[in-house]
Amino acid sequence: MGEGNWYDADIERVVVTEEQIHNKIQDLAKQIAADYVRMESVLLVGVLKGAFMFMADFARALGRLAGAVEVEFMAVSSYGQRATSSGVVRILKDLDRDIANKHVIVVEDIVDSGLTLSWLLKYLESRSAASVEVVALLRKPDAIKVNVPVKYIGFDISNEFVVGYGLDFAERYREMPYIGVLRPSVYSRV
Ligand code: 5GP
Repeated sequence: MGEGNWYDADIERVVVTEEQIHNKIQDLAKQIAADYVRMESVLLVGVLKGAFMFMADFARALGRLAGAVEVEFMAVSSYGQRATSSGVVRILKDLDRDIANKHVIVVEDIVDSGLTLSWLLKYLESRSAASVEVVALLRKPDAIKVNVPVKYIGFDISNEFVVGYGLDFAERYREMPYIGVLRPSVYSRV
């Protein structure tokens, strides 16, 4: 590793900058802290791996404004290594604890077809959560058609494959601090 980062050269266009992400997370945290002001037992459920960075920043932002929150992670698989949705949801890592009577906020990186999320919402409700809402950093146009109830949205983006800030292509680019679209040449390398 030399000077600078390795990934800027692979990015054709920046979709959301680091500063935009930061500001949006502060806004979302304010809104959610206000909505949950009277609630105890708030549990953030992050969806791995894509939401790890959003969860870290969002939990810190919310923690400064709200009462105590707990954090859990689930891992589900719907995409594998391809850039298209298979619609198949598999639990790779389940919740470690009981969520009965907790106010759950699902922390999602991106909602595309909404298949992952609608499945997850049913699952969490079946585990007797007191309430379940969703905060998603990004939403693609198809998600609006499917009508998944995402109460808190960061950014509506166009229908293209993005990487960065937790989102990968073939397990790379997750560490990027911003969100962007890859150059076409990157796809022909793999
Ligand atoms: P959905 O079930 O809503 O179609 O897909 C949700 C999951 O697919 C997301 O949590 C994310 O892991 C993956 N995904 C959807 N769109 C993109 C994208 O543009 N880039 C990346 N890297 N992953 C995506």
